[in-house]
Amino acid sequence: MGIIVQKFGGTSVADPNKIHNVANAVIKEKENGNDVVVVVSAMGHTTDYLIKLAKEVTKNPDSREMDMLLSTGEQVSIALLAMAIQSHGYKAISMNGQQVGIITECIHSKARIVDIKTEKLHKYIKEGNIIVVAGFQGVTPDGEITTLGRGGSDTSAVAIAAALNAERCDIYTDVEGVYATDPRIVPNIQKADVISYEEMLELARVGANVLHPRSVETAKQFNVPLRVRSSFKLDNLGTLIIGVENMEIYKPVAGVASDCSQVRILLSNLPDIPGTAAKVFGALAKNNISVDMIIQSLASNGTNSIAFTVNEEDLESAIDILDEVKQEVKAGEILIDKEIAKVSIVGAGMVDRPGIAADMFRSLAENNINIKMISTSEIKISCLVEKSNAKSAIKALCKEFELEAKEIAVVKGDLPDV
Ligand code: ASP
Ligand code: MG
Repeated sequence: MGIIVQKFGGTSVADPNKIHNVANAVIKEKENGNDVVVVVSAMGHTTDYLIKLAKEVTKNPDSREMDMLLSTGEQVSIALLAMAIQSHGYKAISMNGQQVGIITECIHSKARIVDIKTEKLHKYIKEGNIIVVAGFQGVTPDGEITTLGRGGSDTSAVAIAAALNAERCDIYTDVEGVYATDPRIVPNIQKADVISYEEMLELARVGANVLHPRSVETAKQFNVPLRVRSSFKLDNLGTLIIGVENMEIYKPVAGVASDCSQVRILLSNLPDIPGTAAKVFGALAKNNISVDMIIQSLASNGTNSIAFTVNEEDLESAIDILDEVKQEVKAGEILIDKEIAKVSIVGAGMVDRPGIAADMFRSLAENNINIKMISTSEIKISCLVEKSNAKSAIKALCKEFELEAKEIAVVKGDLPDV
């Protein structure tokens, strides 16, 4: 008999009926002989609603007060779920982040968990309770309420599983598991039965929105087996996420993802002297702007051009900064391309297999898709393409790397958003 941590997202607890469904899933796990700790998000779109409310009061709400406000969402759902479980005749108790002792750094709206106290959790488990914990929130050592960033309940659940040395952390959601790509683009896409933390992290970084990326990092760090499974089909085991060292890998590519939220910036006619790139990227870094893909190329006239991508949210500040740096580094023009998408293939199995990049480029070429930039990491190859080509690129790559299944993926409601 071990401890299982279950996490249910906002759509799974959106109304009283659904809360009873969740109660049934929790009780089922308890009846299997396990101790159960359940982590829940706020009901339905509560968090969005609370944010909207704050913005109606003031354009620029204080971040401490935002955390005070947003943490109430989860407090509603834990109480209701505990009541629902009790109504089925089981012992249950709800706890908010402060009551558990989910200690975070003092950074409002995107705090990181630094410690989780387990005394009370163990005490209540021992007394036979199912514990229902508020996701997404914590408390600083000084008693200030914090939140972990949108979608943070996944991370709460994994961190609690790690602290309790749980057997497994099950993330229940609207989809049946982790798909090799978005089933809205390729309806007959394969579901992975097993995928590695490393692949999941890469997929999350390039746009697969199944799990909060920090939850996967935490699971990897503490080796917590994670299961993504459907809250509507409780018998379906979904996708198990574990360390790559424990996997048998048959396929080079586990998934294809796209990210349409980047823009490309090109700086032309830069002098080919030491320190130019350092100045450009140093100025961006100083202003907290992350840069993703970078290409520098030398033209026949002896000048360099540097193209790179940033998140579209950072575009305006990036342009302001570059306008200043431009004088200093004596750059020519700054050109912006917003109509781009980054399409990536990810797979731990590509490590010792040469030719995967060539297969990717050929497949795009056969579909008449031009590649604007390329970047690679150990288990990922990304190509920047025209935004209008993103979907056909994904379809082509799923076919190329045999990620299509015979049956159509079943997706209920909206895909989870993080
Ligand atoms: N309720 C929070 C949000 O909507 C946390 C979560 O759902 O994981 O972002
Ligand atoms: Mg959520």
